[in-house]
Amino acid sequence: MSGYGEIREGVRALCAQFPDDYFRDIDAERGYPEAFVDALIGAGWLSAMIPEEYGGTGLGLGAASVIMEEINHCGGNAGAVHGQMYNMGTLLRHGSDAQKRKYLPPIAEGKLRIQSMAVTEPTAGTDTTRIKTTAVRRDDRYVVNGQKVWISRVQHSDLMILLARTTSLAEVRKRSEGMSIFIVDLRDAIGHGLTLQPIRNLVNHETNELFFDNLEIPAENLIGEEGRGFRYILDGLNAERTLIAAECIGDGYWFVDRAVKYANARVVFDRPIGMNQGVQFPIADAYIEIEAANLMRFRACDLFDAGKPCGAEANMAKYLAAKASWEAANVCLQTHGGFGFATEYDVERKFRETRLYQVAPVSTNMIFAYVAEHVLGLPRSF
Ligand SMILES: Cc1cc2nc3c(=O)[nH]c(=O)nc-3n(C[C@H](O)[C@H](O)[C@H](O)COP(=O)(O)OP(=O)(O)OC[C@H]3O[C@@H](n4cnc5c(N)ncnc54)[C@H](O)[C@@H]3O)c2cc1C
Repeated sequence: MSGYGEIREGVRALCAQFPDDYFRDIDAERGYPEAFVDALIGAGWLSAMIPEEYGGTGLGLGAASVIMEEINHCGGNAGAVHGQMYNMGTLLRHGSDAQKRKYLPPIAEGKLRIQSMAVTEPTAGTDTTRIKTTAVRRDDRYVVNGQKVWISRVQHSDLMILLARTTSLAEVRKRSEGMSIFIVDLRDAIGHGLTLQPIRNLVNHETNELFFDNLEIPAENLIGEEGRGFRYILDGLNAERTLIAAECIGDGYWFVDRAVKYANARVVFDRPIGMNQGVQFPIADAYIEIEAANLMRFRACDLFDAGKPCGAEANMAKYLAAKASWEAANVCLQTHGGFGFATEYDVERKFRETRLYQVAPVSTNMIFAYVAEHVLGLPRSF
């Protein structure tokens, strides 16, 4: 858990250049934190997990998670950038040498962004094996047709990883087979077979519906073997879940910091409101929950970085952290009374932002299902 002091200081110093009103104004405009993201990329923080041979810093998941945590702890929202931290892992683990040489160095240099991954579809929902988007091989290309929903950061990315069916559900032995993943170069695709429809949502988070109408992708953009795409996506989930857990922990600390500050400063009935146990105990409770989630997050990181299985720990860390950050959000808002609702305190913005993580990228019930089945040996429920 210790040993990340320099990373924390470095990210904090960068974030200090982007104070609360920067994120508040972007939230009000429903904009994208372009200057912040440029600074993060320029300083190399988003290349943390790219190996040195491809121009990155070759750090582990623990270090990467600390970067994400600090962004959120400083009042920002790593949701604008976290895709790159785990999407590049899919390329690294399953891409060919040629793909890795082509894409990873410019990603590490900050010339190319791989912020998007398109899995979810409107009719399939959580049941990913029912996706209907197809990619059909024609000579040296694949032709893609279908629809995706909730696909984030597409307007601020150059590359997207796409999951599509290359063999129909009726023709496969197991429903998890017959899906493949591709690199889509969004600069070529948008307007040439791919159209976007932004989804306005609770958070200022750029996310979209995607429509594929005979989008052509070069066959060389297939990642790994045809038909094994679902397995490749699953391989990336532990890193994704652990990174999101770290963001929730960053949020949790932010809420506790702000609640403590306000509870010490606000005087009602001639004393700081924090002197009342009814105010201080919920803050202490929230802090304890965050600390506990943090232990599970570092357990997942340590296992991942040692190359050991960490599915249970990554899922449990994500669950505990998302729950703890949401509880801390509630406590922080309550501590601020009416002022919690005022945008200038930033509590309502962070409150909305942290709520997402009990739904996406994996909903709480799916984590329960994972633990019930894979850890406890209960029957598969769906
Ligand atoms: C802001 C945002 C950004 C997103 N970004 C991306 C992205 O970049 N790429 C991407 O591919 N997807 C993205 N998603 C999609 C996200 O991963 C899904 O919303 C999520 O996986 C849930 O799928 P769903 O919305 O279709 O819910 P559904 O599958 O319709 O489920 C609805 C509810 O029912 C519950 N449920 C369903 N089946 C069961 C069951 N068998 N047992 C118990 N409970 C069940 C679920 O847990 C959930 O709470 C994003 C979503 C949001 C909101």
